[in-house]
Amino acid sequence: MAQKTEALFRADAYLRTAEAQVVAINDRGGILLDRTIFYATSGGQPGDTGVFERADGSRIMIAATITGETKDEIIHVPAPEQALPAVGEKLNLAIDWQRRHLLMRMHSACHLLTVVCPFPITGASVAEDDSRVDFDIPDAGFTKEEVTARLMELVRADHPIFTRLITDEELAANPGLVKSKNVRPPLGTGKIRLVCIGENAWIDSQPCGGTHVKSTGEVGEIHIGKIEKKGRENRRFRIRFGPMPAN
Ligand SMILES: [Zn+2]
Repeated sequence: MAQKTEALFRADAYLRTAEAQVVAINDRGGILLDRTIFYATSGGQPGDTGVFERADGSRIMIAATITGETKDEIIHVPAPEQALPAVGEKLNLAIDWQRRHLLMRMHSACHLLTVVCPFPITGASVAEDDSRVDFDIPDAGFTKEEVTARLMELVRADHPIFTRLITDEELAANPGLVKSKNVRPPLGTGKIRLVCIGENAWIDSQPCGGTHVKSTGEVGEIHIGKIEKKGRENRRFRIRFGPMPAN
């Protein structure tokens, strides 16, 4: 039976620590908790790493976080040769915040890129130092310098980023919200989470379960490192931190 883990990061992406209780250890040694601040790999965003501290002060290093049988079941994968906690044991959780914050900034940057480049998305992958978004377009039609300049306008304007829940019916009435060509948001749960940018979401809103920074200014300086051709009708945009290198 799949467990349902309370995903604290959905309501507050800035939680770095929390207390939780072990509800199960699966047959591969994965740790399941009643609630967690560890984001599980999905939607192109990698899962969190971090530590669990036990009552005696010893630590269990968590190397990865993944989903189980359902998206609501979150499995914490310990690093090799870690002691396993007992079911019912209380733990203090701490994510690797430095890494997570980079991923939040990058994930928000990917959303900004889909505002600047409003084309169907065929894939995306968020990483700490280099993220990519693939678009279904035969020709980019603009340079990486132009895209970078437009991204940085959005960053400098420091627009708010927030989440909102809508119903399946509201989503069905607004099909334009879904930018992904292949991936549809999960229907049937009754609620879909939108990540919105700008006052009243005037800049963007799209279904997303990821963790984001609270304003575009917090994304910081970014640039397009490359626009690659991936097949006849696909362009891959790579986002990197920092100013565009002079060449
Ligand atoms: Zn997203």
